[in-house]
Parts: sequence; C-alpha cells; structure tokens
Amino acid sequence: MRTSQCVVLVAAAVLTVACSGAAAAPERPAPAPVAAPAAAAPPVVVLDPGHNGRNGAEPAATRRLVPDGRGGEKACNTAGTSTGAGYPEHAFAFDVAKRVAAKLEAAGARVVLTRPDDHGVGPCVDERGRAGEAAGAAAAVSIHADGAAPGSSGFHVAYSDPPLNPVQAGPAKELATALRDALRSGGFRDSDYIGRDGLSPRADLAGLNHATRPTALVECANMRNPDEAALVSSPAGRDRYAAAIADGVLAFLGLKD
Ligand code: ZN
Repeated sequence: MRTSQCVVLVAAAVLTVACSGAAAAPERPAPAPVAAPAAAAPPVVVLDPGHNGRNGAEPAATRRLVPDGRGGEKACNTAGTSTGAGYPEHAFAFDVAKRVAAKLEAAGARVVLTRPDDHGVGPCVDERGRAGEAAGAAAAVSIHADGAAPGSSGFHVAYSDPPLNPVQAGPAKELATALRDALRSGGFRDSDYIGRDGLSPRADLAGLNHATRPTALVECANMRNPDEAALVSSPAGRDRYAAAIADGVLAFLGLKD
C-alpha cells in the first residue's frame, strides 16, 4: 500500500508541475492571417485526343448512339484512321495532345484531357463536346488526323456551323482561326481537298455541336498521304504539330504576342 501511494503522489507532482508550466506560458494572440495576393486563376484548356485505343476492339460500345447536338443521333465514336503502314490516328492524337499539354502547362495554363491514356474506349462524342463546359475551359481543342485519298494533303480546322449558341458564333471561330494561323506559321499547308483557307465549317461533328465553350477540331494531316504519313509517324513531326496547336491556343487566350 505504501508503495502504491508513493506512485500516486509522484504522478500528482508531475501533473502539478506540467500544469503550472502551461499556466505560466505567456499568452500570445494568434497571428492575424496574412492574405495572399490574389493570383489570377490559370486558364483551363481542354484537349480532346480523337478516338481511343480500344474503340476498334469494342464495336458495340463504339457504335452506341448518342445525341449529335442538332436533334439527331450518331455513333458514340469511331476507331479512326491510320497511315498505310498502320500507325493509328488514336495514337497520333494522344501523343500530340500530351505534347500540347506540356507546352500549355509550361506557359501557365491548366490542361484537362478528355481521356487519360490510349488504352480505353470512348468517351463518346457528346461527352467530349461537353468537356469544355464541365472543366470551365477557356478553350477546347479536339486533335485528329484525317484519312482521305493519298494524293490529298494539308490540315484543316473545323468549327460548328451553323452556330448553335453565341460562343459557337464568335469565339469558336476565333479559336479555329488562331489555330489555322499558327499551323500556317508552323510551316503546315492548308488542306487541298476539304474546307477553304484551312478552315472547315461543319454541322455534323457532335463534339463541336455540344460545345458551349470555344471549341475547334484540328485535322492535322491526311494520314493516307505518304509525305504526311511520314510526318505524323515521327516524334519530331508530332512535336511540330503540337507546337503549332499550343501557339494557336495561347494566341487565342492572349498569352502570346
Ligand atoms: Zn479522327
């Protein structure tokens, strides 16, 4: 019993000291929070790499009908095209999108991709078209390459026409034009088989019809043309396309001289 009482007394003494120490500490008022200078939020850019790696392997999912944005329906997506040697459009589009993303992020933008990799199915074109709205984007760019007759070549930039809302009527065309100008400055030639002056007004692209943020679709090249197939198949060529697309977006956003 004596031993046990002793322990209690020691414990009480320690507690007393600890409490005294705490009570003796000078009270300091909590520092007033220092407001950080208001930094402008970085502009958000949605990049939409066309198609996806498993679209061709899962035709039921790919062919599912979705709203086309003009009162009709169209397939969720397609498998896309390829070069004569078999380099697929979905791989090209994803690689270019990643390169564009890196360039835009280096310039201070925040980038949202519509698909995280090149190994899945979808998303469907209506979801891609709404991606700009979902992300609060200042601009959205779909990245594709075409599959036309081998003798045809050049890029074109598509936009929704007739426009379905004021954004499509104005800013979307400005984005398409900025992308066209940047591709020209990057050394690429206007399409010689579709559209006019490197631009193509389209009513049939659901990804553009659904857009409520400035949105354009770049068909970088004709993958069936031997010269352009070589270009899109090379990392250096894809980096040239990416640099031009990034320049066009930055010019549209006013982030480039
Ligand atoms: Zn495509």
